[in-house]
Amino acid sequence: MSSPAARCCRLTGEPGRSKGVRRVRASGGGASTAGKPAASAVSDWYVVVSNGSRTEVEETKQAIKRFLTTELHLELSEEKTLITHVNDGFTFLGFHIQRRKPEGHWVVHLRPAAKAVERVKRKIKSLTSRGWTWMDEYTRLTSLNSVVRGWAEYYRHTSLLSDIAQITTYSWQRYLGWLLKKHKGSRPGQLTAAKSQTILGRKRWVAHIREGTTSLRAHQWLPTRMELQRQRYLRKGKEGFPHPYLSQASAGTSDEPFGETGPDERIYIVTVGVPRQGEPLSIGERKLRARMRDGFRCVQCGSTNDLQVHHTKGFKSHRLADLKTLCRTCHNIETHKQGQQTTT
Ligand SMILES: [Zn+2]
Repeated sequence: MSSPAARCCRLTGEPGRSKGVRRVRASGGGASTAGKPAASAVSDWYVVVSNGSRTEVEETKQAIKRFLTTELHLELSEEKTLITHVNDGFTFLGFHIQRRKPEGHWVVHLRPAAKAVERVKRKIKSLTSRGWTWMDEYTRLTSLNSVVRGWAEYYRHTSLLSDIAQITTYSWQRYLGWLLKKHKGSRPGQLTAAKSQTILGRKRWVAHIREGTTSLRAHQWLPTRMELQRQRYLRKGKEGFPHPYLSQASAGTSDEPFGETGPDERIYIVTVGVPRQGEPLSIGERKLRARMRDGFRCVQCGSTNDLQVHHTKGFKSHRLADLKTLCRTCHNIETHKQGQQTTT
């Protein structure tokens, strides 16, 4: 059980929320609330929309403040509260919301915030820097895919697909730069010809990995309308507009091994392989190679579900020969045995 004070810190210290929004902060946190319910220790962000005058908005703000204080015992954070006009826009949870007139009529655009764009670019840049040229292409491409895809899916319903497309253009160029550093002396044209293909109508980077008789191929994930499963709501049907989150995804099937939404999730989770303390950076690739060698099956019982990679010599060795594929159940048994060996 967590103490009320600890919960208070965790909840109010949540990072990543942007400025320029109404923020409500809990009051009376800390040790004095020990024993009282900690449910009041929350920090929330709201957008309140009004079509009134500035004075009316100021009055609404005071009314909200009074309601929060007297009814909910919460405090409105003045420094985090912004009153703005929708034409000037505001940033909320990584989205920039602004009314514009790009083609003669007014539209409200929901776009990724500038800082969010910068942050994902910084991430892509660091993954494709000189320090990573030792890594194999398959592992690098799939981990780049997971970064771009995770980001793009968060912004799946933004107004302009081009906002997301600029990130994949950026990752295309960064990956090319990384290949040039990795394969010194080769030219961009050669690398593009050798390592890219047109898949589902778009030119993409392709990478392979081989272990024993098994080989896998990954291609660059792109935020096309199809891959993001975006729909356009131009015309209202008899049933009204389909709900973007509740309507059934209708991506067709294809012969493409990884389907139309990019790499199969199983493969892409496997290869991200973030190392734990004491593990080498290349652990993602090694664990994937162990699974490939073992045919994506538990070597003990043959199960293909919930696979994990076991260190047969503990963390003393991360060599491929000392890694084996086990299902979660068999892994728990093995780890238990290993624990007994080290204690006796
Ligand atoms: Zn098993």
